Amino acid sequence: MTAQLINGKLIAQQVREEVAAEVAKRTAAGKMKPTLATVLVGDRPDSAAYVASKGKACQELGMGSISEHLPANATQEQVESLVRRLNADPTVSGILVQLPLPLHLNEERVLQLVSIEKDVDGFSPINIGRLAQKGREPLFVPCTPNGCIYLLDKMGIQIEGANAVVLGRSNIVGMPASLLLVSRNATVTICHSHTKNLPEVVRQADILIAAIGRTEMVRGDWIKPGATIIDVGMNSKPDSTKKSGHRLVGDVNFEEAKEVAGFITPVPGGVGPMTIAMLMKNTLRAAGIQDQKLAQ
Ligand code: NAP
Repeated sequence: MTAQLINGKLIAQQVREEVAAEVAKRTAAGKMKPTLATVLVGDRPDSAAYVASKGKACQELGMGSISEHLPANATQEQVESLVRRLNADPTVSGILVQLPLPLHLNEERVLQLVSIEKDVDGFSPINIGRLAQKGREPLFVPCTPNGCIYLLDKMGIQIEGANAVVLGRSNIVGMPASLLLVSRNATVTICHSHTKNLPEVVRQADILIAAIGRTEMVRGDWIKPGATIIDVGMNSKPDSTKKSGHRLVGDVNFEEAKEVAGFITPVPGGVGPMTIAMLMKNTLRAAGIQDQKLAQ
């Protein structure tokens, strides 16, 4: 193996410890406990598991958590009135609407309703718009892309001037990751399912962020020697040696890529743990914003 492993698990743990220390300071000073409200609509087991792990992280860091669960047939009005109530609730610092919502609901309208001061997922159109505009700052940056940039910074990877290729243009990972890289003065190429000559494009990357949800699609010979690979993909691959019959792999063929890359995130243990760590950081920040509001 030539690549240096980027240990997301360890780096996320450090972030969590920093957040926990700040939370303890706040509570000792008699300030409100940062509190995350999650909104789950329906019964998708993966969404329920994500929401549960976010609540658990809050507890571990000394933060509060409120978990709201509506049935799969909840109406648009019911979801919107819940979000409005959480917006108005002074004990709630941050609101996270677990995506995807059931298909009959208008996701954009729900996300638009989340107060930008409580938008700890960073998905409100105002926060995303500010991220896209030069000289503007979002109040919150989406957690997974922010985690990717945090890993690059922590490993001392130079972003400014680098050729960065982002695979995927989703609202939650690819697009905000691209915007963050541009704001850090990288030259960014965004690839998607219509991109031609993908291997050739990827070969230009000093930094590659892969977020396409395609099992080990990026092969070793697509990678520029010495490049930094951030693999966001979380794909289930059949594996008869595992009790569950499958294992988690990324969008990059790790075994091949690690022989060519300079730095690489493993899956699991790379970007995954960073997402929740960044969510906790955003929730702490939201509590600070609320303190300022109450003091006005
Ligand atoms: P998504 O919404 O399905 O978006 C996938 C993107 O990849 C789209 O832009 C799509 O292009 C592009 N794409 C799909 N197949 C492609 C191909 N063959 N060649 C080039 N581009 C292709 O997925 P997502 O929500 O961004 O998630 C991406 C991956 O990250 C998934 O594996 C997901 O599980 C993982 N993820 C991990 C975390 C974490 O915390 N680690 C968080 C979120 C997501 P079009 O736009 O043209 O359709």
